[in-house]
Amino acid sequence: MRTDNDYMRLAIKEARKAQELGEVPIGAVIVKDNHVIARAHNLRETLQQPTAHAEHIAIERASEVIGSWRLEDCTLYVTLEPCVMCAGAIVMSRIPRVVYGAIDPKGGCTGSLMNLLAQPQFNHRAIVESGILENECSTLLREFFKNIRQQKRSLKQAKIQNDTNLLE
Ligand SMILES: [Zn+2]
Repeated sequence: MRTDNDYMRLAIKEARKAQELGEVPIGAVIVKDNHVIARAHNLRETLQQPTAHAEHIAIERASEVIGSWRLEDCTLYVTLEPCVMCAGAIVMSRIPRVVYGAIDPKGGCTGSLMNLLAQPQFNHRAIVESGILENECSTLLREFFKNIRQQKRSLKQAKIQNDTNLLE
């Protein structure tokens, strides 16, 4: 039987696929009865869709696979803490357990800014486990944004150089 770490590794693999597309590296898998029934990665830039988050796409795919909007008995693994929309989708799909890697202090809604999965007012609550392979998950994101900043810096430097050449 696979462990949470094993499934998180599959989610990280999905995150790398996003990275290859130039997307923010976030990946998700959904597991039912020890089988991966859906996997997805962030496609927001590729599709130019604000809803194309890894876990949101995985939820849609899992519903297709099992032929039901109710994802009971499923566990969602995602490399970054779910946002407000994805936490909402978790409530709507009745996923009972969510496991995530890196925390998102600026946008996370399953513990950081709030925990939408522990609201007594909703008719659904989920168990949330965080920090699974946190280091790998957050390193992926950190490196991605570091590269973007470096690219921006070298573009800026190239522009300054170009402007200087024009003045000479
Ligand atoms: Zn999201």
